[in-house]
Amino acid sequence: MHSVVSNSAVSLDVQADVSTCVALLSNFDGMVYRMRRDPCWTVEFVSAGCLSLTGYAPHELVFNQVVSFEEITHAEDRQRVRCAIDTAVALGQRYNVEYRIVRKDGSVCWVVERGSVSSQQRATALPASSGRPSTIEGFILDISERKQAEHALREAERRYRSIFENAIEGIFQSTPDNHYLTVNPSLARIYGYASPADLMANLRNISGQLYVDPARRCEFIRLMETDGYVTDFQSEVYRRDRSVIWISENARAVRDAAGKVLFFEGTVEDITKRKRHEAEIQYQASHDPLTGLYNRTALYAGIAQAIQAVQGNGGQVAVVFLDLDQFKYINDSLGHQVGDHYLRTVANRLRSCVRDSDMLARQGGDEFVLVLGNQHSPSDITHTVDRILGIVSRPWMINGLELQVTCSIGISLYPTDALDADSMLRHADTAMFKAKSLGRNTFQFYSDKMMDGGSDRLGLLSRLRQTLETSGLVLHYQPRQCLKTGRIVAAEALVRWPLPDGTLVSPADFIPLAEESGLIVQLGDWVLREACRQLRQWIDEGTGHVPISVNVSRVQLEREDLAGTIADILATYALPAALIELEVTESAVMGDVEKSLNTLRQLKALGVGVAIDDFGTGYSSLSYLRRFPVDTLKVDRSFMQDTPDDKESAGIVAAVIALAHTLGLSVVAEGVETAEAALFLQDLNCDQLQGYHFSRPVPADAFHALLLQGVTCVK
Ligand code: C2E
Ligand code: MG
Ligand code: MG
Repeated sequence: MHSVVSNSAVSLDVQADVSTCVALLSNFDGMVYRMRRDPCWTVEFVSAGCLSLTGYAPHELVFNQVVSFEEITHAEDRQRVRCAIDTAVALGQRYNVEYRIVRKDGSVCWVVERGSVSSQQRATALPASSGRPSTIEGFILDISERKQAEHALREAERRYRSIFENAIEGIFQSTPDNHYLTVNPSLARIYGYASPADLMANLRNISGQLYVDPARRCEFIRLMETDGYVTDFQSEVYRRDRSVIWISENARAVRDAAGKVLFFEGTVEDITKRKRHEAEIQYQASHDPLTGLYNRTALYAGIAQAIQAVQGNGGQVAVVFLDLDQFKYINDSLGHQVGDHYLRTVANRLRSCVRDSDMLARQGGDEFVLVLGNQHSPSDITHTVDRILGIVSRPWMINGLELQVTCSIGISLYPTDALDADSMLRHADTAMFKAKSLGRNTFQFYSDKMMDGGSDRLGLLSRLRQTLETSGLVLHYQPRQCLKTGRIVAAEALVRWPLPDGTLVSPADFIPLAEESGLIVQLGDWVLREACRQLRQWIDEGTGHVPISVNVSRVQLEREDLAGTIADILATYALPAALIELEVTESAVMGDVEKSLNTLRQLKALGVGVAIDDFGTGYSSLSYLRRFPVDTLKVDRSFMQDTPDDKESAGIVAAVIALAHTLGLSVVAEGVETAEAALFLQDLNCDQLQGYHFSRPVPADAFHALLLQGVTCVK
């Protein structure tokens, strides 16, 4: 009974176990199976999960009622699955294989199948050859989601790898102890290595091998430690071939959970071109394109810097302002190309006079400035300036011509004369102007007295303008004597600027300033008007018609309306045009030749005379005179200085007179100071002389007196 009770209890237990198993199997996400290892994988048993996994109900699969598991297995995977299972079975192991199945609705789904030879078979240890088919059992799970996730991961990794491999920027991971963990091909290329592997193998110490200044790597690491990142961190680095490039790094520190820096990762950009471009812009902004010297902007900064450097050490700063004396002449007569060439020559000569620590700048035009820093003795400055005067005035050959240009120099000192760049430059300019008025080719140190006299350029210009507006200028007249008759046949009107103390400022001192500033147009108009007014007065007084010659500067000659202006003035004073002669220099005519030619033709048509002034100081070419409608040639006074004693000068004068005559021009010799010179000229048939020998330029009254003495000659 007991055993009956006990047996029935056991069978109840078994039933409970079976139903628990069925419940477990139906709850199982995948499908549990037993299959035969036949070509169809004939299913003997399959759990309810079959439906959701394959879309087929268990009875459709069991014994291949509708479809076999072989058919469900994706055609491309069948071989592999069978092989995996056969191999495991042969080795007595469990198999574990991932493959695809085609569900009832045609969709493809990834599964994992794990199992082994069926337990029954193992228990009975029946060999496969026993006649009963070998069976396997196990379970199959849907792993589509995991597969998709893996696929997405692989895709992402592929994409990121592509970015890494193909990025234009270099990408790296490096360690705080100066070696690389990874680099991409671009980084290798930027640093001049054949491949990332080549770089990793050869660049083993970033700090020592890469950075031109190893302190940059220290700074990089310091920033990483304090900020955790760097942006646009610029450094110069060596490429493999030791050439130097500029790079910009953007990087961050990667830390572990405890905050310890594991490595750095970031990007590298080659910014050499950008840097070069920036440097070019910087260079252009601070240099004069013609000479390569510093420009005015840099000059101001340079002076300020030099001042700062001597503050507290008792040193001085000298600003040396240099202006070429005859540059305008070179530029006007030989053309701008020669002028530019000359400025470059001067720049090079000046370079050879200064120390590396001194600054050399072109302030503009023909003005150069030297900043001599940390000076302790005035004699050093004088020594340098003396050298400059000597070097600048060395002869210079161009197109077979030997030219000699001198310069005038003004010097101002910090802290004696001024305390800032602007004042130092102004004072040096004033001193330079003083040097010019002392006869050029010399230098002057600035002194406060120069300012008392208001002799600085700007002050002078403003006072000249004022004097002109208040009719404060006067004309002196220098007679021209006929060498045959000894009579006054003409006079040259020469402008004078009387100062309140009675002294007269020479036109040589203010005409260049008036030309530079454009005031010459107004001044020239005044001279013409005044000469005509005076002439009208003398004619009205019955003292005779004496032709007056008036100097005309290049600026006036290049104006469109010179002939018109003269016609108006002549009309105002009802004067015949033949009583006015205009003196133009060779260089003025040769400036804009076509324009000059046009103006000269208009003047000729008007009936005024034209004389070439200072002949021999410019082109000295008689051939071009044929092209110009000119009446008179005035031989420059420099030739008369040693004539007739100096054979060379005398020979030139004789030749010029003869040639001018063959061209039908009358000749005036300027600057005749001696009787010998006058006799010499008479022998050569020179037409007229002008010079101290006969008379200095004199005020209108004095000239009038000369005319009244009866030496008047009415042409
Ligand atoms: P320039 O036209 O050649 O004038 C002759 C200059 O030679 C005058 O100088 C005159 O005083 C000087 N001179 C005359 N005879 C002798 C002599 O025997 N020996 C010496 N050593 N010098 C003599 P100044 O008056 O100082 O004028 C200098 C220059 O200024 C003139 O040279 C002329 O180029 C310019 N200038 C004068 N007045 C005017 C003017 O109204 N307008 C323009 N644009 N320039 C003027
Ligand atoms: Mg003259
Ligand atoms: Mg002259």
